[in-house]
Amino acid sequence: MKQTTIRNLKEIAELGLIKLDELERLEKVVNHLPLSVTNQMLQAINPEDPNDPIAKQFIPSANELSLTAEETKDPIGDHLHEKVKGLIHRYPDRCLLTPVHVCPVYCRFCFRKEVVGNSSGTMSDLELEDGFAYIQSHPEIWEVILTGGDPLILKPQRLKMIIERLNAIPHVEIIRIHTRIPVVDSKRINSEMVTALKIKKPVYVLLHANHPNEFTDEAIRACAMLVDAGIPMLSQSVLLKDINDNVDTLSSLMKTFLKNRIKPYYLHHADLAEGTKHFRVSIQKGQELMQALRGKFSGMCQPTYVLDIPGGYGKIPIGPCYINSTNNNYQIEDYLGKLHHYMDSL
Ligand SMILES: *Cc1c(COP(=O)(O)O)cnc(C)c1O
Ligand code: SF4
Repeated sequence: MKQTTIRNLKEIAELGLIKLDELERLEKVVNHLPLSVTNQMLQAINPEDPNDPIAKQFIPSANELSLTAEETKDPIGDHLHEKVKGLIHRYPDRCLLTPVHVCPVYCRFCFRKEVVGNSSGTMSDLELEDGFAYIQSHPEIWEVILTGGDPLILKPQRLKMIIERLNAIPHVEIIRIHTRIPVVDSKRINSEMVTALKIKKPVYVLLHANHPNEFTDEAIRACAMLVDAGIPMLSQSVLLKDINDNVDTLSSLMKTFLKNRIKPYYLHHADLAEGTKHFRVSIQKGQELMQALRGKFSGMCQPTYVLDIPGGYGKIPIGPCYINSTNNNYQIEDYLGKLHHYMDSL
Protein backbone atom coordinates (compact mmCIF):
# COMPACT_ATOMS: atom_id res chain seq x y z
CA MET A 1 0.00 0.00 0.00
CA LYS A 2 1.56 3.27 -1.11
CA GLN A 3 -1.14 5.50 0.24
CA THR A 4 -0.58 6.61 3.80
CA THR A 5 -4.18 7.21 4.78
CA ILE A 6 -7.48 5.65 3.73
CA ARG A 7 -10.44 7.97 3.64
CA ASN A 8 -13.14 6.15 1.75
CA LEU A 9 -15.47 3.36 2.67
CA LYS A 10 -14.98 1.36 -0.53
CA GLU A 11 -11.33 0.81 0.22
CA ILE A 12 -12.19 -0.27 3.74
CA ALA A 13 -14.74 -2.70 2.28
CA GLU A 14 -12.11 -4.06 -0.12
CA LEU A 15 -9.94 -4.84 2.87
CA GLY A 16 -12.84 -6.83 4.30
CA LEU A 17 -13.25 -4.56 7.31
CA ILE A 18 -16.85 -3.64 6.50
CA LYS A 19 -19.55 -5.48 4.60
CA LEU A 20 -20.51 -4.28 1.13
CA ASP A 21 -24.22 -4.25 1.97
CA GLU A 22 -23.52 -1.78 4.77
CA LEU A 23 -21.93 0.81 2.51
CA GLU A 24 -25.04 2.90 2.04
CA ARG A 25 -25.81 3.23 5.73
CA LEU A 26 -22.20 3.94 6.54
CA GLU A 27 -22.12 6.81 4.01
CA LYS A 28 -24.51 8.59 6.38
CA VAL A 29 -22.17 7.89 9.28
CA VAL A 30 -19.11 9.32 7.56
CA ASN A 31 -21.01 12.40 6.44
CA HIS A 32 -21.21 13.23 10.10
CA LEU A 33 -17.69 12.28 11.18
CA PRO A 34 -15.34 11.55 8.28
CA LEU A 35 -13.51 8.29 7.90
CA SER A 36 -9.75 8.40 8.13
CA VAL A 37 -7.36 5.61 9.11
CA THR A 38 -3.62 5.77 8.59
CA ASN A 39 -1.90 2.88 6.92
CA GLN A 40 0.04 2.41 10.14
CA MET A 41 -3.18 1.74 12.08
CA LEU A 42 -4.60 -0.45 9.28
CA GLN A 43 -1.51 -2.62 9.53
CA ALA A 44 -2.08 -2.97 13.26
CA ILE A 45 -5.55 -4.45 12.65
CA ASN A 46 -5.94 -8.22 12.60
CA PRO A 47 -8.54 -8.71 9.83
CA GLU A 48 -9.32 -12.20 11.18
CA ASP A 49 -10.51 -10.76 14.48
CA PRO A 50 -14.10 -9.49 14.31
CA ASN A 51 -13.50 -7.67 17.62
CA ASP A 52 -10.16 -6.14 16.76
CA PRO A 53 -9.58 -3.28 19.24
CA ILE A 54 -7.97 -1.01 16.64
CA ALA A 55 -10.66 -1.61 14.00
CA LYS A 56 -13.34 -0.84 16.58
CA GLN A 57 -11.82 2.57 17.23
CA PHE A 58 -11.50 3.75 13.63
CA ILE A 59 -13.83 1.77 11.36
CA PRO A 60 -17.30 3.39 11.13
CA SER A 61 -20.26 1.41 12.40
CA ALA A 62 -24.02 1.72 11.91
CA ASN A 63 -24.31 1.98 15.72
CA GLU A 64 -23.23 5.60 15.30
CA LEU A 65 -26.66 6.32 13.84
CA SER A 66 -28.42 5.53 17.14
CA LEU A 67 -28.60 8.56 19.39
CA THR A 68 -29.71 8.51 23.01
CA ALA A 69 -31.56 11.23 24.92
CA GLU A 70 -28.62 12.24 27.08
CA GLU A 71 -26.15 12.63 24.19
CA THR A 72 -25.44 16.13 22.88
CA LYS A 73 -23.47 17.95 20.21
CA ASP A 74 -21.29 19.69 22.80
CA PRO A 75 -20.93 17.08 25.57
CA ILE A 76 -18.30 18.92 27.60
CA GLY A 77 -19.52 22.45 27.03
CA ASP A 78 -16.53 23.69 25.02
CA HIS A 79 -18.69 26.16 23.17
CA LEU A 80 -19.78 27.88 26.39
CA HIS A 81 -16.19 28.72 27.21
CA GLU A 82 -14.87 29.67 23.78
CA LYS A 83 -13.58 33.21 24.27
CA VAL A 84 -12.24 33.92 20.78
CA LYS A 85 -12.26 31.49 17.88
CA GLY A 86 -10.29 28.37 18.82
CA LEU A 87 -9.56 29.43 22.40
CA ILE A 88 -11.43 27.71 25.22
CA HIS A 89 -10.88 29.13 28.70
CA ARG A 90 -12.76 27.19 31.37
CA TYR A 91 -10.39 26.92 34.34
CA PRO A 92 -8.63 30.04 35.61
CA ASP A 93 -5.00 28.95 35.18
CA ARG A 94 -5.09 27.14 31.83
CA CYS A 95 -6.73 27.35 28.44
CA LEU A 96 -7.02 25.34 25.26
CA LEU A 97 -5.87 26.61 21.89
CA THR A 98 -7.09 24.59 18.89
CA PRO A 99 -5.06 25.59 15.82
CA VAL A 100 -6.58 22.77 13.71
CA HIS A 101 -9.68 20.61 13.81
CA VAL A 102 -8.32 17.82 11.64
CA CYS A 103 -6.66 14.57 12.73
CA PRO A 104 -4.81 11.86 10.78
CA VAL A 105 -7.33 9.32 12.13
CA TYR A 106 -10.87 9.84 13.34
CA CYS A 107 -11.79 8.00 16.51
CA ARG A 108 -15.42 6.99 16.19
CA PHE A 109 -16.04 7.93 19.85
CA CYS A 110 -14.50 11.40 19.49
CA PHE A 111 -15.84 13.81 22.12
CA ARG A 112 -15.39 16.70 19.69
CA LYS A 113 -16.96 14.89 16.75
CA GLU A 114 -19.16 17.88 15.93
CA VAL A 115 -16.15 20.02 15.16
CA VAL A 116 -13.34 17.69 14.13
CA GLY A 117 -12.78 16.72 10.55
CA ASN A 118 -13.66 20.17 9.34
CA SER A 119 -10.80 22.07 7.77
CA SER A 120 -12.70 25.34 8.15
CA GLY A 121 -11.82 25.00 11.83
CA THR A 122 -8.15 25.66 11.04
CA MET A 123 -7.15 28.96 12.63
CA SER A 124 -5.93 31.62 10.22
CA ASP A 125 -3.00 33.87 11.10
CA LEU A 126 -5.40 36.60 12.16
CA GLU A 127 -7.43 34.24 14.34
CA LEU A 128 -4.25 32.99 15.98
CA GLU A 129 -3.27 36.61 16.67
CA ASP A 130 -6.60 37.06 18.49
CA GLY A 131 -5.83 33.94 20.51
CA PHE A 132 -2.34 35.17 21.46
CA ALA A 133 -3.79 38.59 22.35
CA TYR A 134 -6.37 36.96 24.64
CA ILE A 135 -3.67 34.95 26.42
CA GLN A 136 -1.41 38.01 26.64
CA SER A 137 -4.18 40.01 28.32
CA HIS A 138 -4.99 37.26 30.85
CA PRO A 139 -2.04 37.02 33.22
CA GLU A 140 -3.79 34.24 35.16
CA ILE A 141 -3.15 31.85 32.23
CA TRP A 142 -0.15 29.83 33.34
CA GLU A 143 -0.51 26.90 30.97
CA VAL A 144 -1.61 26.71 27.34
CA ILE A 145 -2.80 23.40 25.95
CA LEU A 146 -2.60 22.91 22.20
CA THR A 147 -5.32 20.51 21.15
CA GLY A 148 -7.85 20.18 18.37
CA GLY A 149 -7.95 18.16 16.20
CA ASP A 150 -4.37 17.04 16.44
CA PRO A 151 -1.88 19.93 16.63
CA LEU A 152 1.05 17.74 15.56
CA ILE A 153 -0.54 17.46 12.11
CA LEU A 154 0.68 21.01 11.50
CA LYS A 155 3.87 21.56 9.57
CA PRO A 156 6.76 21.77 12.05
CA GLN A 157 7.40 25.34 10.92
CA ARG A 158 3.90 26.49 11.82
CA LEU A 159 3.95 24.63 15.11
CA LYS A 160 7.29 26.25 15.88
CA MET A 161 5.83 29.70 15.22
CA ILE A 162 2.91 29.01 17.60
CA ILE A 163 5.12 27.61 20.32
CA GLU A 164 7.58 30.47 20.03
CA ARG A 165 4.80 33.01 20.33
CA LEU A 166 3.53 31.30 23.48
CA ASN A 167 7.08 31.06 24.77
CA ALA A 168 7.36 34.84 24.46
CA ILE A 169 4.39 35.50 26.78
CA PRO A 170 6.00 35.81 30.22
CA HIS A 171 3.13 34.44 32.33
CA VAL A 172 2.76 31.30 30.19
CA GLU A 173 5.13 28.91 31.92
CA ILE A 174 3.91 25.55 30.66
CA ILE A 175 2.90 24.41 27.18
CA ARG A 176 1.07 21.14 26.74
CA ILE A 177 0.23 19.31 23.51
CA HIS A 178 -2.60 16.78 23.28
CA THR A 179 -1.90 14.35 20.43
CA ARG A 180 -2.48 10.90 19.01
CA ILE A 181 0.14 11.26 16.25
CA PRO A 182 3.10 9.46 17.89
CA VAL A 183 1.10 6.21 17.74
CA VAL A 184 -1.17 6.66 14.71
CA ASP A 185 1.12 8.46 12.27
CA SER A 186 4.55 8.10 13.84
CA LYS A 187 6.61 9.28 10.86
CA ARG A 188 5.46 12.83 11.52
CA ILE A 189 7.63 12.79 14.64
CA ASN A 190 10.87 13.60 12.88
CA SER A 191 13.86 15.66 13.91
CA GLU A 192 12.31 18.84 12.52
CA MET A 193 9.22 18.29 14.67
CA VAL A 194 11.27 17.53 17.76
CA THR A 195 13.30 20.70 17.21
CA ALA A 196 10.09 22.71 16.94
CA LEU A 197 9.03 21.41 20.35
CA LYS A 198 12.32 22.18 22.06
CA ILE A 199 12.12 25.58 23.67
CA LYS A 200 13.29 26.93 26.97
CA LYS A 201 9.96 26.53 28.70
CA PRO A 202 8.67 23.05 29.44
CA VAL A 203 6.62 21.49 26.64
CA TYR A 204 4.72 18.40 27.78
CA VAL A 205 3.29 15.93 25.28
CA LEU A 206 0.12 14.10 26.32
CA LEU A 207 -0.39 11.01 24.24
CA HIS A 208 -3.89 9.69 23.57
CA ALA A 209 -3.78 5.87 23.21
CA ASN A 210 -6.33 3.27 24.22
CA HIS A 211 -4.91 -0.17 23.51
CA PRO A 212 -1.45 -1.77 23.77
CA ASN A 213 -1.70 -2.87 20.09
CA GLU A 214 -1.31 0.79 19.14
CA PHE A 215 2.32 0.54 20.24
CA THR A 216 3.85 -0.67 17.02
CA ASP A 217 7.63 -0.49 16.49
CA GLU A 218 7.25 2.88 14.77
CA ALA A 219 5.15 4.20 17.64
CA ILE A 220 7.72 3.08 20.18
CA ARG A 221 10.47 4.81 18.19
CA ALA A 222 8.48 8.05 17.89
CA CYS A 223 7.80 8.21 21.64
CA ALA A 224 11.46 7.48 22.37
CA MET A 225 12.52 10.34 20.10
CA LEU A 226 10.37 12.77 22.07
CA VAL A 227 11.43 11.53 25.49
CA ASP A 228 15.11 11.32 24.50
CA ALA A 229 14.86 14.97 23.48
CA GLY A 230 13.86 15.77 27.06
CA ILE A 231 10.14 16.17 26.39
CA PRO A 232 8.13 14.67 29.25
CA MET A 233 5.19 12.51 28.18
CA LEU A 234 1.96 11.63 29.93
CA SER A 235 -0.97 9.55 28.75
CA GLN A 236 -4.70 9.93 28.27
CA SER A 237 -7.00 7.04 27.44
CA VAL A 238 -10.72 6.68 27.08
CA LEU A 239 -12.41 3.77 28.80
CA LEU A 240 -14.03 1.98 25.85
CA LYS A 241 -16.41 -0.97 25.83
CA ASP A 242 -14.96 -4.16 24.36
CA ILE A 243 -11.71 -2.32 23.61
CA ASN A 244 -9.98 -1.78 26.95
CA ASP A 245 -12.65 -2.41 29.60
CA ASN A 246 -11.00 -5.41 31.22
CA VAL A 247 -8.21 -5.62 33.78
CA ASP A 248 -5.74 -7.42 31.52
CA THR A 249 -5.95 -4.92 28.67
CA LEU A 250 -6.10 -1.87 30.88
CA SER A 251 -3.13 -2.94 33.00
CA SER A 252 -1.16 -3.93 29.93
CA LEU A 253 -1.90 -0.50 28.43
CA MET A 254 -0.69 1.31 31.56
CA LYS A 255 2.46 -0.83 31.70
CA THR A 256 3.09 -0.19 28.02
CA PHE A 257 2.94 3.55 28.67
CA LEU A 258 5.41 3.25 31.54
CA LYS A 259 7.78 1.01 29.57
CA ASN A 260 7.87 3.78 27.00
CA ARG A 261 8.54 6.40 29.70
CA ILE A 262 5.02 7.83 29.50
CA LYS A 263 3.36 8.41 32.87
CA PRO A 264 -0.35 7.41 32.97
CA TYR A 265 -2.34 10.60 33.60
CA TYR A 266 -6.06 10.31 32.83
CA LEU A 267 -8.50 7.51 32.11
CA HIS A 268 -11.53 9.32 30.71
CA HIS A 269 -15.05 8.15 31.24
CA ALA A 270 -16.39 8.37 27.66
CA ASP A 271 -18.24 11.63 27.00
CA LEU A 272 -21.89 11.81 25.90
CA ALA A 273 -21.13 12.59 22.26
CA GLU A 274 -23.88 11.70 19.78
CA GLY A 275 -23.95 8.12 18.54
CA THR A 276 -21.35 6.76 20.98
CA LYS A 277 -23.45 4.64 23.32
CA HIS A 278 -21.86 1.44 22.01
CA PHE A 279 -18.51 2.66 23.37
CA ARG A 280 -19.64 3.59 26.88
CA VAL A 281 -19.09 1.57 30.04
CA SER A 282 -20.89 2.21 33.36
CA ILE A 283 -19.15 4.29 36.01
CA GLN A 284 -19.54 1.34 38.36
CA LYS A 285 -17.55 -0.86 35.98
CA GLY A 286 -14.95 1.89 35.57
CA GLN A 287 -14.52 2.09 39.34
CA GLU A 288 -14.20 -1.69 39.63
CA LEU A 289 -11.47 -1.68 36.99
CA MET A 290 -9.64 1.12 38.77
CA GLN A 291 -9.89 -0.80 42.04
CA ALA A 292 -8.47 -3.90 40.37
CA LEU A 293 -5.55 -1.86 38.98
CA ARG A 294 -4.86 -0.44 42.44
CA GLY A 295 -4.97 -3.91 43.94
CA LYS A 296 -2.47 -5.44 41.55
CA PHE A 297 -0.10 -2.94 40.00
CA SER A 298 2.54 -0.35 40.81
CA GLY A 299 1.40 3.09 41.87
CA MET A 300 3.04 4.34 38.68
CA CYS A 301 0.44 2.37 36.66
CA GLN A 302 -2.49 4.28 38.15
CA PRO A 303 -4.19 6.89 35.99
CA THR A 304 -6.86 9.17 37.48
CA TYR A 305 -10.35 8.12 36.35
CA VAL A 306 -12.12 11.34 35.34
CA LEU A 307 -15.48 12.53 34.09
CA ASP A 308 -15.86 15.75 32.15
CA ILE A 309 -19.12 16.94 33.71
CA PRO A 310 -21.69 17.62 30.96
CA GLY A 311 -22.49 21.30 30.62
CA GLY A 312 -18.94 22.64 30.82
CA TYR A 313 -18.30 22.18 34.57
CA GLY A 314 -14.87 20.64 34.09
CA LYS A 315 -13.13 17.33 34.76
CA ILE A 316 -13.21 15.67 38.14
CA PRO A 317 -11.98 12.31 39.52
CA ILE A 318 -14.84 9.83 39.89
CA GLY A 319 -13.34 7.31 42.21
CA PRO A 320 -13.36 4.75 43.42
CA CYS A 321 -13.36 6.25 46.90
CA TYR A 322 -11.39 4.50 49.65
CA ILE A 323 -12.39 6.69 52.55
CA ASN A 324 -15.65 7.22 54.46
CA SER A 325 -16.09 9.34 57.54
CA THR A 326 -18.36 10.07 60.44
CA ASN A 327 -17.03 13.16 62.24
CA ASN A 328 -13.29 12.56 62.45
CA ASN A 329 -13.58 8.81 62.52
CA TYR A 330 -12.54 7.42 59.18
CA GLN A 331 -13.18 4.06 57.63
CA ILE A 332 -10.50 3.31 55.05
CA GLU A 333 -10.38 0.49 52.55
CA ASP A 334 -6.99 -1.04 51.71
CA TYR A 335 -5.87 -2.27 48.30
CA LEU A 336 -7.24 -5.74 49.05
CA GLY A 337 -10.68 -4.36 49.94
CA LYS A 338 -10.30 -4.81 53.74
CA LEU A 339 -11.64 -2.04 55.99
CA HIS A 340 -9.62 -0.22 58.66
CA HIS A 341 -10.36 2.55 61.14
CA TYR A 342 -8.36 5.70 61.31
CA MET A 343 -9.00 8.23 64.04
CA ASP A 344 -7.89 11.71 63.05
CA SER A 345 -6.44 13.27 66.14
CA LEU A 346 -5.83 16.74 64.69
C1 LIG B 1 -9.40 19.01 29.73
C2 LIG B 1 -9.32 20.47 29.71
C3 LIG B 1 -8.23 21.14 30.29
C4 LIG B 1 -7.09 20.39 30.95
O1 LIG B 1 -7.48 19.87 32.17
P1 LIG B 1 -6.43 19.13 33.12
O2 LIG B 1 -7.31 18.61 34.22
O3 LIG B 1 -5.46 20.16 33.58
O4 LIG B 1 -5.77 18.07 32.32
C5 LIG B 1 -8.21 22.51 30.26
N1 LIG B 1 -9.22 23.22 29.70
C6 LIG B 1 -10.29 22.62 29.17
C7 LIG B 1 -11.37 23.46 28.59
C8 LIG B 1 -10.37 21.22 29.15
O5 LIG B 1 -11.43 20.62 28.58
S1 SF4 C 1 -7.53 12.12 17.85
FE1 SF4 C 1 -8.74 13.21 19.43
S2 SF4 C 1 -9.71 14.92 18.36
FE2 SF4 C 1 -8.99 13.47 16.78
S3 SF4 C 1 -10.73 12.13 16.38
FE3 SF4 C 1 -9.53 11.11 17.98
S4 SF4 C 1 -10.46 11.81 19.92
FE4 SF4 C 1 -11.18 13.21 18.30
